[in-house]
Amino acid sequence: MTGRVLAERVGWLADLVQSMADGVIVAHWSDADLAELAGGVGPEGRRLPGNGWMALRRLGWAAVPPAGVVVSDRVRRIAEEEAARVLRLACHRRAIVAALLATWPADPSARTDDEWAALRAALPDATDNATIRNRTRQITAHIAGHGRPPADLCELEGQPAAARQVSLAAADRQQVAVDRVDDSIVRVWSQLPTCPAPASYRDWVWHAFDVVLPAIVPAGVKVCTPTLRPGDGKVRVDLPWQTPHTPPRLDGHTRALGVDWGVNTLLTATVADLDQDGTVVVQGRPLRFDATGASAKLVRLRRHREHLNTKADHLARLRDGRPTHHPAAAALTAKLALLQAEHTAVCARIRHLNKALAWSSARWLVDQATAAGATVIYVEDLATLEGGGRSRSLNRRLSGAVRGTVFTAIAHLAAKVDIAVVTVPARGTSSGCPRCGGPVKHVKTPQRMVAGYRWANCSCGLSMDRDHAAAQRIAARGLANQANTRRGRNGNAAIRTATDTPARHQTRRPTRTATIPPARDRRKTAPTPKQIRPATVKTSRLLPLRRQVPAPAESPSGSSGQRPAGRTPQETNPKGPVSQVPHTAPTTTPRHPHRVRGAALGRGFHRHVHATPVTDRDGSASRMSGSPRIA
Ligand SMILES: [Zn+2]
Repeated sequence: MTGRVLAERVGWLADLVQSMADGVIVAHWSDADLAELAGGVGPEGRRLPGNGWMALRRLGWAAVPPAGVVVSDRVRRIAEEEAARVLRLACHRRAIVAALLATWPADPSARTDDEWAALRAALPDATDNATIRNRTRQITAHIAGHGRPPADLCELEGQPAAARQVSLAAADRQQVAVDRVDDSIVRVWSQLPTCPAPASYRDWVWHAFDVVLPAIVPAGVKVCTPTLRPGDGKVRVDLPWQTPHTPPRLDGHTRALGVDWGVNTLLTATVADLDQDGTVVVQGRPLRFDATGASAKLVRLRRHREHLNTKADHLARLRDGRPTHHPAAAALTAKLALLQAEHTAVCARIRHLNKALAWSSARWLVDQATAAGATVIYVEDLATLEGGGRSRSLNRRLSGAVRGTVFTAIAHLAAKVDIAVVTVPARGTSSGCPRCGGPVKHVKTPQRMVAGYRWANCSCGLSMDRDHAAAQRIAARGLANQANTRRGRNGNAAIRTATDTPARHQTRRPTRTATIPPARDRRKTAPTPKQIRPATVKTSRLLPLRRQVPAPAESPSGSSGQRPAGRTPQETNPKGPVSQVPHTAPTTTPRHPHRVRGAALGRGFHRHVHATPVTDRDGSASRMSGSPRIA
């Protein structure tokens, strides 16, 4: 059969699963039921199983197919799994909303220190500030609309919808089978309905389809049961694969990379070593991933998106204020559709740019760690970044969501090369001096000592870029407290409480072992050879392409007024052989020699990003193309 028929049938299965899952969610969208699921204990006092569909069956929340439709028990399981995942996510939101309501402050726009402390104690672990802010806004809006705070999550928001997808992992071999054909092809068998509403088991037929694995999947790994996502006449297959991997060690590190989240400089990192006597030695070279251009582009795109929103709202008001048969109504509707299409396109552009920025910066950071020989990366904990003025200015440039994606990307890429990623508390990283621990003064520049943001000054003599100083402090904080590193339930390693130790600066460069070449003999023994200069062509992109042609020969017939041989300005293609001197085509030179990998192409946002090049430990440019793959 064709792919379109397959997509249609997978779509019918997804619709069945979605409607059954929605039925379960609607029936149990109440605070009492969510509390029962969150409690994790079944009606007979036993612990609920980890599998979503099993937990729902233990609670007696079965999925029911539409009237007259026959589905197997496996399809019901898939629907229950979908419903369980949605409801468990809701349980998490319910805990956050409950914590916010229990500690609701007098002024929600500015919590006091005590109110923050109470909120942090009530919230689930690793709740980030963006979530707190968004949920606080949601509750504030509810209070403004209803005159009182909501009782619980179910009053605050309506029931969520299940995704239109088929998680085959919840079923067993009577519904799905997966087998490898060869190193690059996986064959999936699945029972699919042959009509939208199958009335008997005769309407369910086994289908087999091949999935071609992308090149990044190593040969011989174990592939798991996929999730099918139909849409646009295609079926997308989410196919997880497993490969053995031991998580990197959490302590015993002697070389680390400390990383600070900056405002324009997205990441500032520094290399630090743990000495035998327990002190931390930091290197003076800052490693920067400067995304000023990309950030500015994001700001422009966001502004444009807001502008489109305002325009669309205005047009919608104009249209709604008029009778439907008004002659201008059709034109307004067409304009609105156009605006909405552009809005969608701008949103997609922002999303892609955020993603590209996040993964590119993470790749750069992990490459730096690999090149420096660091075995651990210490990052500020996003959840404990203070909600003061600094965070507000950070949010204006790069949203917390982008930094969340950067963190996820760093953890993902570092795990592949056995580098641990550990979060350290963010409190006081930029307000303290990395050398003496005393308070630093922030000034505009080392030359202009007026109160500012960019430069850190300390009475002990420290004068350093603010983010660089913070990165040194983070590295020292991590290395000195590595015995306190714990892995959380979500798999992320963190140091929860840390004491600061002053870091020593590396005073001299490591000795180079390279042999010094003997001095050249400069005595004159022979005539200077004539230097042969190659024909040079200016290599600027601004210079128009111009062909060098020989000067016209002096001819006795007096035709010296003739145009020299070669291409005429009107002629696009020279006709016939053209006598000419050999010439070299102008080549483009990169404008910025120190750009991140892939920048040589000069495409996309790489033009807007400047980063410290990845170099080997002895300072030579690295030939690394990405990181070594794990075997
Ligand atoms: Zn100091």
